[in-house]
Amino acid sequence: MNCPKCKAAMEIVVFEDIEVDRCTACKGLWFDSRENERLKSKRGSEVIDSGDPKTGRRNNTIPYVRCPRDGNPLIRMVDPAQPHLWYETCSTCGGAYFDAGEFRDYKNLTVLDFIKDLFAKPRA
Ligand SMILES: [Zn+2]
Ligand SMILES: [Zn+2]
Repeated sequence: MNCPKCKAAMEIVVFEDIEVDRCTACKGLWFDSRENERLKSKRGSEVIDSGDPKTGRRNNTIPYVRCPRDGNPLIRMVDPAQPHLWYETCSTCGGAYFDAGEFRDYKNLTVLDFIKDLFAKPRA
């Protein structure tokens, strides 16, 4: 499989029992059907996101990216809780693409949001 952004080969990396494809050049990550959500909940899983966030930010601006599995256009997703974080998903196979550094961000902010939620709760 080739990277949907820079077209370099992707290699399989495994964290616990979850397989993810990582680009050998830009280190973008491809997750098959909702594996990003499964992996997000695993402690330490951000180690798979080993790329340079600078490269990720540059690649983040590439429009009209196609799914590396089925060639359908990927849809850009913006999480309302993390509006600076854009990632791409395929509505056909359910896969998701994260640029280098974005998966760490995706995980970290969840922890921050969780802490914010704790403080936001009204005290009884
Ligand atoms: Zn790449
Ligand atoms: Zn797809």
